[in-house]
Amino acid sequence: MKFHEMEIKQVEKALETDFSTGLLSEEVKKRISKYGLNELDEGEKQSALLLFFSQFKDFMVLILLAATLISGLLGEYIDAIAIIAIVIINGFLGFFQERKAEKSLSALKELSAPQVSVLREGQWVKVPSKDIVIGDILKFTSGDRIGADVRVIESRSLEIEESALTGESVPVSKHIDPLTTVNPGIGDMENIAFMGTMITRGSGIGVVVATGMKTAMGQIADLLQNAESGETPLQRRLEQLGKILISVALLLTVLVVAIGVLQGHALYEMFLAGVSLAVAAIPEGLPAIVTVALSLGVQKMIKKNAIVRKIQAVETLGCASVICSDKTGTMTQNKMTVTHLWSGGHTWTVDGVGYKPQGNFYRNERPLHPKDEKALQQMLIFGMLCNHSELVMKEEEIILDGDPTEGALLVSAMKAGFERPTLLNEFTIINEFPFDSARKMMSMHVKDKQGRHFIVTKGAPDVILGISESILWEEKTQYLGKEMKIRVQEAINGLASKALRTIAIAYKPVPANTVILSEQEAEKKLTFIGVQGMIDPPRPEVKEAVKECKAAGIKTVMITGDHVITAKAIAAQLGILSNKSKVLDGKALSNMSVEELEVVVDEVSVFARVSPEHKLKIVKALQNRGHVVAMTGDGVNDAPAIKAADIGVAMGITGTDVAKEASALVLLDDNFATIKAAIIEGRNIYENIRKFVRYLLASNVGEILVMLFAMICGLPLPLIPIQILWVNLVTDGLPAMALGLDRPEENVMKRNPRSPNEGVFSRGLGWKVVSRGFLIGIVTLFSFIIVYHNDTSRLQYAQTIAFATLVMAQLIHVFDCRSEKSVLSRNPFGNPYLVWSVISSLALMLVVIYYPPLQPIFHTLAIRGQDWLLILGLSSIPTFLLAGSFLLRKTK
Ligand code: ATP
Repeated sequence: MKFHEMEIKQVEKALETDFSTGLLSEEVKKRISKYGLNELDEGEKQSALLLFFSQFKDFMVLILLAATLISGLLGEYIDAIAIIAIVIINGFLGFFQERKAEKSLSALKELSAPQVSVLREGQWVKVPSKDIVIGDILKFTSGDRIGADVRVIESRSLEIEESALTGESVPVSKHIDPLTTVNPGIGDMENIAFMGTMITRGSGIGVVVATGMKTAMGQIADLLQNAESGETPLQRRLEQLGKILISVALLLTVLVVAIGVLQGHALYEMFLAGVSLAVAAIPEGLPAIVTVALSLGVQKMIKKNAIVRKIQAVETLGCASVICSDKTGTMTQNKMTVTHLWSGGHTWTVDGVGYKPQGNFYRNERPLHPKDEKALQQMLIFGMLCNHSELVMKEEEIILDGDPTEGALLVSAMKAGFERPTLLNEFTIINEFPFDSARKMMSMHVKDKQGRHFIVTKGAPDVILGISESILWEEKTQYLGKEMKIRVQEAINGLASKALRTIAIAYKPVPANTVILSEQEAEKKLTFIGVQGMIDPPRPEVKEAVKECKAAGIKTVMITGDHVITAKAIAAQLGILSNKSKVLDGKALSNMSVEELEVVVDEVSVFARVSPEHKLKIVKALQNRGHVVAMTGDGVNDAPAIKAADIGVAMGITGTDVAKEASALVLLDDNFATIKAAIIEGRNIYENIRKFVRYLLASNVGEILVMLFAMICGLPLPLIPIQILWVNLVTDGLPAMALGLDRPEENVMKRNPRSPNEGVFSRGLGWKVVSRGFLIGIVTLFSFIIVYHNDTSRLQYAQTIAFATLVMAQLIHVFDCRSEKSVLSRNPFGNPYLVWSVISSLALMLVVIYYPPLQPIFHTLAIRGQDWLLILGLSSIPTFLLAGSFLLRKTK
């Protein structure tokens, strides 16, 4: 017999498990060693050797190798070998960096890998889905992805979308009864939930019948979901820039060779000059350093609780101009405590802290026993019954397992002395219509000991009021007319204006043994009992984060399913709502087209009582207004908006698997302030990339100028290819990497976000590259001319002086690159990495100049002490000039 044909008791026996306690840890270990981990094979990984060789397929490197080969053929063996050695060392560096990046990516994957709720030794625990074994009992709910193939043993309106397996996107309802169909297809297995499929509604429990490659998903292994990688727009732009530079270099080379040959120089000599120019023009180290800077940035974000799932987000974050954030749990603590209750014209208060079930009830500030007040008692009992949360003790601390809103209702009833297990003895739950954010309520069909049946509903008070036709007032059920509705609404508004989150409780008797099939049938003609109001204090750090965002030109928008007045009160506390800003509710939003919303959207700071599908409209309207939008979400229905946003943000703790998969950024702590931290990091990474792009390209410009000028003036080449390559890859490489680790400039969160269309060279960067490059080129050329002019027989010595001047000018200039303004506007030595990298580069330069075995390779000679004065003097001129002109502009 197959599992889908069995009764659930038979399944329990066949799998040697226990539905009430789950498996023992010993048994789990045994089963893991017998069946293996619950993982799908990931296919062939790129071998280390292939990865190493892939380092050399870069176009720049290929050109370099070709040029080297030709110069080797022309007899320049030492040069050719040395260049190849440098290229190979660089290849190794690239290889190790990529290896590291790959490792951190798989660590990231691990961090965002789905966890599942499993029953082990009588306790529900969360484990990574790879640790599930056959016979494990899993609990799942709307928004989860199923971790293995399971036979459903409990279903509460469970519906699952199986398109990953069947291609059919209409969700399938799941039940627990055995199937009688012979050989049903996957789409017909209504009591099996398959690995990788997604719960769209309800919740359930199932027992694992297949894991890993044995699951239906395992059979079609190529459906594997890979973590997204790819390139950022900036990387793409830099790659294009690289191609342009190569074309320019090639053109220059051809030109120089042609002119030289026409002037009567030897072809061989001109060819070497051409290679030197090409090497000078190409920033060989740039692509690797960009990759390192991005991957280090991503690591830094993890330390701040933000996991980047799509590398592109690192850059887009820096452009964000609006953050649309959920209120509950993201801006508030999601630690709810009922403080006020209202029913039939009376208000009660209750004290106590957090989820500790101790507190007293008061009416008009006089203590009372809640069991003496019938309406109050009814409201507490139903709030506890229509509930799935539980309190558990963990290391002497009370922890809530479940939804915080339900936790608050559980605790308020416990304060009055009720216990859920006792209640469940008195009431039997027959059916449940689970909560969803669109309906904003949930219901249970229950039966009491006397055999009477009821529908108990709890949810957003305005919604419940709309579907109620009577009300409990002075212990009697009365007609709920228009006037009465206004009175109730006023009471609700009164609670909401105290920033309380409100939940109404209602019920209706139904004839015994009726089957209520749909929520529409259950949730109508109710009797309104009352409202419980709970505080959910704002997270203390959010107010400051909102303020910082404002200063950075980023608008914060609160989007919540909560009541308009509650939302307004909290938005005001957090500084989101100003005098000018507007509040829109879900109803108004429903009646608006995207175009209509576009007209007002810039003025709206709070969207309240919205449903998840409204979020997509909001994202679109904001994007049409030219905004770069970050949008948070946690539920299944949030996924489309998260995907459509420029930066989709999912909650790490409360977020569903589906929301996380759609997102670009996951907040490990669900905290709004973490989005701000990620934005600062995103801005900083971009600025740091600009810093070293500027640094490296200025070096290239300098090198080209030196070579071109020398050629035009009919001088010998001041630098030889291997020296240029050494500068580009080694002595410049280390400080460039250190610039990638620089701290943000103070004003990073005090200016408006940059435009996503901004080019690499905008905000004056192009001018900086050319002007600095020009100055560096000129001083290098000068140093060469001065020495060469004195004694033309000492070409190699003059070249060594030029080499040292170029390196020194670059190493001084690098401190200027820390700031967009000037070297004087920031402590130049504030980045210790930079100081150490400059010291290392200096040492490396000295080794190449003074270490005899390296001298023939790099064509260097030991520089005499007094010549260092010349080198230092010339190489510091560019930075002095720039600092001087900055001061001049400032005094003007
Ligand atoms: P946010 O969108 O900021 O997270 P939210 O949590 O209020 O806000 P929803 O979860 O969509 O958004 O809830 C909307 C409304 O539904 C709430 O204001 C509350 O009145 C009601 N509600 C929330 N949770 C439950 C629940 N478990 N049972 C019944 N009603 C609920």
